[in-house]
Amino acid sequence: MSEQAVDNLVLDRYECRACGYVYEPKKGDEKNNIPPGTPFAELPLTWRCPVCGAKKSAFTNIGPAGKASGFQENLGYGLGVNSLTPTQKSILIFGALAAAFLFFISLYGLK
Ligand SMILES: [Zn+2]
Repeated sequence: MSEQAVDNLVLDRYECRACGYVYEPKKGDEKNNIPPGTPFAELPLTWRCPVCGAKKSAFTNIGPAGKASGFQENLGYGLGVNSLTPTQKSILIFGALAAAFLFFISLYGLK
């Protein structure tokens, strides 16, 4: 395992499923006297979400900060599709159906 991989493991960020707060090991948690650089795994069992008070078990691993940008790009992708007008959406759907239809026709054509 490379040093980089170990760094990533230690710096995995955790998101509170209750309120969306993200614990960043690089920043720590000032409110609960957690110094910057503390991995989530080393937080005391008594540690609670500084925003809503949820337990550690309510947190889910969302990976190191580096990967998050990709995740947010994907979110942007989803929003991009959602921001289409209904007409644009039906054109997309109809186009996909037409393409599938043509595909089946071409299969029959081969036989
Ligand atoms: Zn929370």
